[in-house]
Amino acid sequence: MRYAALAVLTLFLSKHCFAQCASTKSLDSPPIGTSLADLIDPTLDPCSNFQAYVCHRWFVSHPLTPGVSMSGIASRLFEGEGILRHRLIEEAELAPRSTPANKLISMYVSACKQAQKPKEKIGPKAKEELRKIDGISNGRQLAREIARVQLSTPGGWSDASSPFFTISFSDSVEVMPRGVATIEVTGHSFIREASAQTGVGNSELDKQHYNRSIEAMFVLAGESSARAKADAEWSTVLEEALAAFRKNSSGANGHDSLRDLTYVKKSVPGFDWKLYLNSLGAGHVRVLKVNSQINLAQLSNLISHSPMPEMRAYLRLHFLLLASKGLGPGFARAAAIAAEAKNNETEDSQPPAVDCYAAASDDMPDAIAEAYVGEKFSLEDRAKAMSIVVAIQNALLRAVDHASWMGEETKSEARSKVKAMILNVGYPESWHINQLRLDKKDYLVDLRRIAAFQLASNTNSKEFENDRKEWRVPPDTMNAFEDPVANVLTVPAGILQYPFFASKATDSENMGSIGVIIGHEMTHGLDSEGETVDSHGRARDWWTDADKQRYTEASGCYVRQYAEEIPGLGRPDSKLTLNEDVADNGGLALALSALTETLPGHEQDLQVVGPDGLSNLQRFFVAFGSTGCTEVSAEASRYLLAHSVHALPMIRVNNAVSNMPAFRSAFGCSAKAPMVKPDPCVIW
Ligand SMILES: [Zn+2]
Repeated sequence: MRYAALAVLTLFLSKHCFAQCASTKSLDSPPIGTSLADLIDPTLDPCSNFQAYVCHRWFVSHPLTPGVSMSGIASRLFEGEGILRHRLIEEAELAPRSTPANKLISMYVSACKQAQKPKEKIGPKAKEELRKIDGISNGRQLAREIARVQLSTPGGWSDASSPFFTISFSDSVEVMPRGVATIEVTGHSFIREASAQTGVGNSELDKQHYNRSIEAMFVLAGESSARAKADAEWSTVLEEALAAFRKNSSGANGHDSLRDLTYVKKSVPGFDWKLYLNSLGAGHVRVLKVNSQINLAQLSNLISHSPMPEMRAYLRLHFLLLASKGLGPGFARAAAIAAEAKNNETEDSQPPAVDCYAAASDDMPDAIAEAYVGEKFSLEDRAKAMSIVVAIQNALLRAVDHASWMGEETKSEARSKVKAMILNVGYPESWHINQLRLDKKDYLVDLRRIAAFQLASNTNSKEFENDRKEWRVPPDTMNAFEDPVANVLTVPAGILQYPFFASKATDSENMGSIGVIIGHEMTHGLDSEGETVDSHGRARDWWTDADKQRYTEASGCYVRQYAEEIPGLGRPDSKLTLNEDVADNGGLALALSALTETLPGHEQDLQVVGPDGLSNLQRFFVAFGSTGCTEVSAEASRYLLAHSVHALPMIRVNNAVSNMPAFRSAFGCSAKAPMVKPDPCVIW
């Protein structure tokens, strides 16, 4: 599995942490299938303000508390995430042999806990690592050792404490083709950064804290206090040199930032990047992109021209910082103080000890996701969810047939893209994580094994067709994704739960909630951004000029509609939200089309009224409205209005339903009702 950032990651859910995400309120509604009709406020008119009709009662019983900027029915999902992970880890510890995932989790936690016991001296494995660093005497050994230090903990290569630079592997359009890695110079300087940032904090005090804590780490690692002091000073000089160099070398970058390794080898002497990449396990990388004010030649020279003793001290320190949680409580605390000081956040209190459950959550996301799926997501859930995804995909194909703004040539391209879409639903076909072998006895060894395992699945080393089948997020992720480059739709098990989905809920509820989200995501593959990449991931405009013209005219309807003044808040920037508005409306239309096709197979139709008193059509819209029951403070609304690509929750719900003639008939709205647009907008 690979966790590269997706080029387009659409949050229909509003997990925007405007101010304080952690303090959003909890939800105490009963599960999907029993409560939708209870949500409704029958004293309100659905045709005047549909979101209020569906959400008002919930808003009244869950008022925003001071300091909380956003809260909604879906918030519960995010709030429960940490608690659920904690419980899954606890259960794995109690029953380690029950599943492969539980075995991995329990071994990880056991080794981690063992490492947190106080000890007098540094352990033999750590000593061995330090000896390797001290044995460096030439550039080739240095290249290998930098990679080793970066691999001493999961994500070490992209951590702020990575020596000299971080390296990351991306798969977004701009760095196609594959085999490109981005290098970013690290290093830090207290005085400059403190004044350049906010000007608050005492940078001199932070520097003292930092130096004292890294000196303490050198002493814990077995050095005399005199040598520790000298090593700490040397290391800090190198950190500051890197930071200063990064800032002062603003010339000669730009065209120099993307470099083929063949060129690098010939023209940039000093540091052996090929050997470094091979040692890291990223030998497939052919092009390096330097994402800093410094270019590759300057960075190579800096690394290869620093004196060896200084270099060794610097590398020893970075190993101790990166692997601190595996070295014992003294190291972990010192590293935490150093990190606080570096970030200008020195606190009076002692940092807490390493939390092995939190560490497991960070380092073993796939194993925890596997445990999550084992407990919370059945084969029946997966089959049901897949049937919804396929029904929406078919609805999109029908919508393409009927799209009046698309010419025949473009329709054919669109159909190919929709049909070629990979549908990742629930969880992957196989759990790669089960191939990981842990040692239980030594946490340092485990951290290194996990790091190598993660890096191997994190690099963009595979060919496009194989690579696009990989899951890019852990399956317990509570969101849905569309990756326009790989043409992959991912609906993880994490979001396939209340209030979005339940395999036992009615078709109308599931289509109105998760169905709309899936439809929303799918339309992104065909919108004004999706049209720049074809079904094979090639960057190519596949709309004709005439299509573009007609799309601009048709979508202009949304631009006008979403720019309508919101009382007390002003006019939204509807050009900023256009793609998301089109996707919201498209998602709702596709889900209704899919529901209409699905119901007859279950001896139902849109007009049949259920025990809750709602017709299937009404329940569909209420389910949709309920996913938009998110209250936003005035301050947060103003912020979102200026910055978010999504319209405000109330607008997202109300504008989308008022563009649907079926909504008008479902609730018997008059032609002049606020929720009835005289000239509805249509793209899909
Ligand atoms: Zn979107």
